Amino acid sequence: MTNIAAALDQIRAIVGPSGILTDAADMAPYLAEWRGRFKGNSPAVVRPASTEEVAAVVKICAGAGIPIVPQGGNTSLVGGSIPYEEGREIVLSLSRMNRIRDIDTLNYTMTVEAGVVLTSIQEAAADADRLFPLSLGAEGTAQIGGLISTNAGGINVLRYGNTRDLVLGLEVVLADGRVWDGMRRLRKNNTGYDLKNLFIGAEGTLGIVTAAVLKLFPRPRQSITAFVAVPSPAAAIELLARLRAASGDAVSAFELMSRRCLDFALKHVAGTVDPLSEPSPWYVLTELTAGTKSDAFQETVETALGEAFEAELATDATLAQSDAQAKQLWFIREAIVEAQKFEGGSIKNDVSIPVSRVAEFIELAEAAVAEACPGIRPTPFGHVGDGNIHFNLSQPEGADTKAYLDRWDEICHVVNEVIFKLDGSISAEHGVGRFKKDEMPAIKGPVEFDMLRAIKATLDPNGLLNPGKMLP
Ligand code: FAD
Repeated sequence: MTNIAAALDQIRAIVGPSGILTDAADMAPYLAEWRGRFKGNSPAVVRPASTEEVAAVVKICAGAGIPIVPQGGNTSLVGGSIPYEEGREIVLSLSRMNRIRDIDTLNYTMTVEAGVVLTSIQEAAADADRLFPLSLGAEGTAQIGGLISTNAGGINVLRYGNTRDLVLGLEVVLADGRVWDGMRRLRKNNTGYDLKNLFIGAEGTLGIVTAAVLKLFPRPRQSITAFVAVPSPAAAIELLARLRAASGDAVSAFELMSRRCLDFALKHVAGTVDPLSEPSPWYVLTELTAGTKSDAFQETVETALGEAFEAELATDATLAQSDAQAKQLWFIREAIVEAQKFEGGSIKNDVSIPVSRVAEFIELAEAAVAEACPGIRPTPFGHVGDGNIHFNLSQPEGADTKAYLDRWDEICHVVNEVIFKLDGSISAEHGVGRFKKDEMPAIKGPVEFDMLRAIKATLDPNGLLNPGKMLP
């Protein structure tokens, strides 16, 4: 019996027959991402049901030298959650670890296992009259372990921060199978290095997150959703600054989209309606929330918008009059992702830029890609409130899709040059995975890259945790 077969027998004894998949058809959903860009092979998909089982499995793998790819909801789309084609790594899926262990309404915390899906966390918080503010397009599938491991953001980063800002404590299985119990529920703890932050955003390369203590917030009692036509990205950024100041920083979401994005959604996604009568080159979808319900809040927002009109930062706007109308406005934003698929190949750039330089970025990047690929159709949209632009690029009309997508790396390189020039980042939300790992030495520089390697070597000396991901 080979080493791997013996190890799989030991693992089967730990997790039971239903906790291990070895049949190709059963494993298939765990070995590819839905966009189909990354595919891999594996001797087994292991689905432990408890921290003790994860620890035992990792210990067996450490002893047998079997690499491990941790996997959550498999929505990150950069190849981090998928094994390589050689089929050496097992996939360790956290999906059976899906219990909410505790909600402490006085401490404003929730304790969850890694496999809990984000919508379940949001719903459990709401049931306890609390808010868990993390919210993003993949929330019905993404798991908290994956969200922590990619330091996910979403639409409310502007107000509540990234996942990193929402985690108080972590439980992590280390590369040798030991369990680090860092499940502290403290908001202040000045006792040395903050180890939990090493694992947040580590993409499974340093340890396996098995549980977390999350921060909760009071639930907003009033929410104002507005869809605003703006003449330019620069006007949008100025509008954001004014709304933040006027409302006492009550802006929880601020999404930018170009007219082309709206046109694509209107053309391809049933149920999308243009909420304004005249077309505008750019739009903002914003949400402001308050802890108490008052007419004064509504008046403050309306006054700030009125002043924006006078300053020619906005040309038209509609405010949702009901939850249903607010949902309809958000539907437009969500439809953009879907709509692009119908316009041929789309080259994606997950960009982060200092908020004050977003307008400059869009202008320079649009010019650069137009020069590289005449006729290319940029569709910039996204969480401009925190500087995160999805600088997606639809193929020129009538172009050959394969030939266009073959230029992915070249065109991304053109965009990256602009990002670096403006002190931005080439990954704002999806992470590095396999997709962007080769860029890491250049992005980080020699000193930072050495520190990253040293941390990896300390916590995973045999390189068994998600090898070949994030770090080249
Ligand atoms: P996976 O994709 O399964 O894994 C992600 C990485 O984490 C992999 O490297 C994996 O090995 C590792 N990992 C997973 N679980 C664990 C664990 N328990 N311990 C250690 N390592 C682990 N992101 C944003 O930030 N903002 C957005 O607005 C946003 N919108 C999105 C919209 C859509 C439609 C989609 C598809 C994705 C979006 N994302 C967004 C990306 C988002 O960051 C990821 O989808 C999510 O964080 C990953 O969670 P997951 O459970 O799917 O993790």
